[in-house]
Parts: sequence; structure tokens; C-alpha cells
Amino acid sequence: MNPDELRAELAALARQAQGLADLDRLLGVRDTPVPPLPPLRAAFAPPRSPSVAAPANRARDATPASPKALPKEPRPARGLSLAEREARLHTLADRMAGCTRCRLHEGRTRLVFGQGAADADLVFVGEGPGYHEDQQGLAFVGRAGELLTKMIAALGLSRDEVFICNVVKCRPPGNRNPQPDEMGTCLPYLREQLDIVQPRVICALGKTAAVGLGLITPDQSLGRNRGLHDWHGTPALVTYHPAYLLRSPSEKRKAWHDLQQLFPYIGGRPGREAGSARA
Ligand code: SF4
Repeated sequence: MNPDELRAELAALARQAQGLADLDRLLGVRDTPVPPLPPLRAAFAPPRSPSVAAPANRARDATPASPKALPKEPRPARGLSLAEREARLHTLADRMAGCTRCRLHEGRTRLVFGQGAADADLVFVGEGPGYHEDQQGLAFVGRAGELLTKMIAALGLSRDEVFICNVVKCRPPGNRNPQPDEMGTCLPYLREQLDIVQPRVICALGKTAAVGLGLITPDQSLGRNRGLHDWHGTPALVTYHPAYLLRSPSEKRKAWHDLQQLFPYIGGRPGREAGSARA
């Protein structure tokens, strides 16, 4: 390992340690506190390097992307303007209103389209609306939503800077998991949302979302298949659902380990316009 590589590795390790300390604070992990690290010396700043493609199907507990792998070059401007994305999302929401394509429409109070920035770099995908989402017509509210907000904050973002939605848009009765045929019927809507927003990276929250997106198969465990996958050319991270983390707080460290793999994709976009759309 040459000196530059060594400095890059040290910088990556320091980022991971600092991130854990930050997440402990933000998510309330009660393990032994990690003392904050001193600022990195300038000499340890990672070297610039050209962008690289996201690795597919990264194995469980794989090391987060090192600074050497960060995409440093601006990505070419994506096709649609913010105004066009907002307009298309609203048109799609209008088209979806009153949808009766699958049996889930029978028990819904409100269809939950999703909300956030129409030009978000990062889209979170959950499995489906729960009670509070069904009542309010918003994705990820309630306690799981609060934890997701903290996870987003740990990434240095706010909810208005990401887009949040689900595989199915109507609440399954009794909060059961959406069934494969229901996810298959609703999936074209999610595809359209992702085609419009064109995120740099997707984050599938929980096994059902990961299966719904086709990132893992129903017989694969979430725990052994966390990490970066590929969704039709877009990197897609598989990690735990916030509701699971509320039940199993000791897994928050693993979730943070996963979330760090989003950093290379959420560093800002050249020419990004201000504002966000709520559909
Ligand atoms: S879950 Fe999706 S496909 Fe089923 S009724 Fe709701 S919007 Fe339509």
C-alpha cells in the first residue's frame, strides 16, 4: 500500500468512526459512546479520482465505499427540469387517484403517493402505508417515520431533500405485508415515479421493499443481502426498515453501516434547482 492509499484508508476509517458517533447521538444508540475524533489533517484528505460505477450485490457487512471510490466528477445533467418532474409527478398522482387495480383499494382511507423533492438524489422505498400513513395520505409518518427522519438527518439531509414512497400505495388490511400480486400490480407506478425523479441512488427499507423492487428474492434473507444492489442501472441499497430498528435497536449500527454507502451519491448535483414537489 503506497502512502496515498494509506492516507485514503485512514480517512475512510475516520469517517466511519465519526459516523457511528453521530448516529449514536441521532438515533439514541445506548452502547458505549464513541469519542469524537479530531479533525482530519489536510494531508489525510482523500485524493481526487474519477467516478466509478456502483458495485452490484455487495455482500453483507462489506466495507463502505472508500474515498477513492467516490464519484468526484459531475454527473451529466439529467434530462428533465425540476418543473417538468413536478408536473409529471402531479399528472401521475392524478392518474393514480381512485385506482382500483388491486384489492388493496378496498380498505384504504387515502392513497399514499409519496412525497419529497421531485429531483431528489435519494429515493427511499418502503413496503406500504400503515395506519397513520393511510389516515394522513403521507409516506413514513408515525414512529417509524420519525426514525427515518433521524436516519435522513444522519446523512446530512432533510426529508424535503429526498423522495419517500412505498412499493404499494394503499394500506394492506391489518398492516399485513403486501402480497406478491399486489406489489406486481402497483409496481408500474413506482417505476414511473423513479423514472421521473431519476435518483442517483435508491434505498429499499426492509425485505418486502427489497423483494418488491426485485433486488432480492423472497427466499433470501435481508440480513445476508444488505448493501448495494442494482436496480436497472441505478444503485439500490438494501437495509433495515425503521420499524424493525425500533423493535431491534441493537441493529442500528448495522443500518448506519449500510447508510454510509449512500454518501458517494448524495453529495449535491451540479445545476440543481431549489425547491421540492409534494404530490
Ligand atoms: S395498491 Fe397500487 S395498484 Fe393497488 S389499488 Fe392501490 S394504487 Fe392501485
